[in-house]
Parts: sequence; structure tokens; C-alpha cells
Amino acid sequence: MNQLIPLSFHNNVSLTIKREDLLHPHISGNKFRKLKYNIEESLRQGNTTLLTFGGAYSNHIAAAAAAGKKYNLQTIGIIRGDELHDKAMQNPTLKFAADCGMKLHFISREAYRDKHTPEFIAHLQREFGEFYLLPEGGTNALAIKGCEEILTVEDSGFTHICSAVGTGGTVSGIIKSAGAGQQVLGFPVLKNEALSDDIAKFAGQGNWKLVNSYHFGGYGKVTEELVTFMNGFYEKTGIPLDPVYTAKMVFGVIDMAEKGFFPDNAKVLMIHTGGLQGIEGMNLELKRKKLSLIKI
Ligand SMILES: *Cc1c(COP(=O)(O)O)cnc(C)c1O
Repeated sequence: MNQLIPLSFHNNVSLTIKREDLLHPHISGNKFRKLKYNIEESLRQGNTTLLTFGGAYSNHIAAAAAAGKKYNLQTIGIIRGDELHDKAMQNPTLKFAADCGMKLHFISREAYRDKHTPEFIAHLQREFGEFYLLPEGGTNALAIKGCEEILTVEDSGFTHICSAVGTGGTVSGIIKSAGAGQQVLGFPVLKNEALSDDIAKFAGQGNWKLVNSYHFGGYGKVTEELVTFMNGFYEKTGIPLDPVYTAKMVFGVIDMAEKGFFPDNAKVLMIHTGGLQGIEGMNLELKRKKLSLIKI
């Protein structure tokens, strides 16, 4: 569903948001797209266990756990940070994943860094038996194929398509399915020099670029300015944004529109990739730091 944002800019630029966050109550937004063909493939291989990786607030972990429950697959989540083990049930994301039936396995940050090495995968296979492996963030070729279904024929009239970028899988699918006349703008939420190369590898050349100035200090970092923006946007539009991804992208797009980045009469489509499950955990952090909370 596309929703027009009630904001006007001097050069008649319009902003619309695609509500991928409404695709499913628990397998939200781009994670639904990224899981779809992977689950099909896993079932085709006769594999009934999904194993994947993520941090304590990971949208991917929550979505994989919910998808496992829905499709009757066992799920195993390898979680970064062995110190979390004892307080996992105080973490809303991990509690949700466990309630969906995901088996949580905590490893140290050092071990997590080596998680994709063949030795570590072999170690996991000895421990858990056979599984279908989804990489961290869920990005692989089948995930990108799923993300090619975000844009539809109804979106062909937009001049610019904007999306938050983590691993780059989602924006790669968007780039592959965008029309020749459409420019795709990706808004990385983390500092990663290799991202452009990754996206070029997944999606090839084309009419796209990354806007690197709206990561707000890096992955999972939020500022008072960002929280104030999110709450104002929610009040004005009724649309909740997530603090890790979509809020940074929407903030960036509005800022760029105000500064005259877009040509006259540009029709800009922003992709709401979901991630709202992360708000509860983020608010616990903000509360601990005595900062303003995100309204929902
Ligand atoms: C995971 C996620 C992204 C980033 O997707 P990538 O494919 O890793 O770039 C963007 N938005 C939300 C809400 C997410 O959960």
C-alpha cells in the first residue's frame, strides 16, 4: 500500500511511502521478502531447520523465528554476545523469538566475527545437525530475488525510489526491478566502505547511488534529534518508523527535499521496510539513558 506524505516542498516534489511494514504483523517488511524464497528452497531440499545469526535486537532474528513458527520449521538463532544468555528474557526481541520456538545459542563477540567460516559452520553442524543456513541479515541471492517483488507496476511513475540499507540486499532487489528512468537512492545506516562494492556485485551497475550522510553515528545509534523527528512524523502522518533503519532514511529524504536535492516535480517513493518490533527494545535503552522515548 502506498501512502502520500502530507508535506509540500517549494519545487512541487511529492513524497510517498510504501507500507511494507504492513505485510505481516511479525514477519515485517523486507525480512518477509528476504525469507520467502529461502523458505521455499529449504522445504524443497527437505530441510526443516533454519539456522541464522543476529544481534540482540535483530529484526531478522524476530522475522526468522516468526516464519519458522508459521511454516513449521525448527529455527536456531546464533546470537552475538554470550553475556546476554542470562538476561535474554528481558530483551523483547529475544523473548519474542524464543516464544516462537527459536532455539537461542549465544556466542562471544569474537566467535561471532568468524561465524561464516567453514570451520565454524562445521562446528554448528556437529552441534545442531543438518540445517538450512541463512546468513546474518538474511542476504543471499534468493533474498534479493524476493526483494525484486517490492516494486510493482503501479510504482513505475515514481522518479526516485529510496530505501534504508543494512547489508544491501534489499536495495539490490529494488535496483534490479526499478525502471530505466528511476533513480534508486540507498541510505546506509552504518559505516561500511565495502557496501557499494557489495551492491554492485548483487545488482550490477545502474541508476543508483548511496547517500552516506544520515547514519546518525552508526548502526543502532539514535540521537535526540532522530527521536524528536520520529515522534513528529508519527503525529503528523500516523505512520510509525523504526529507529534503526526507516527513520534515518525518511529523515534524510525530507532533509534533501528541503535542501532542493530533487528536481522539480520529482515523485519520490520511500520504502517502509518495517522493523517496528525493535522499538520496544530501543525504548528500554533510551529509558536507561534517561532520553526521550519513541511514541508508538
Ligand atoms: C534489515 C532491515 C533493513 C536492511 O536490509 P538489508 O537488506 O540488510 O540492506 C532495512 N530496514 C529494516 C526495517 C530492516 O529490518
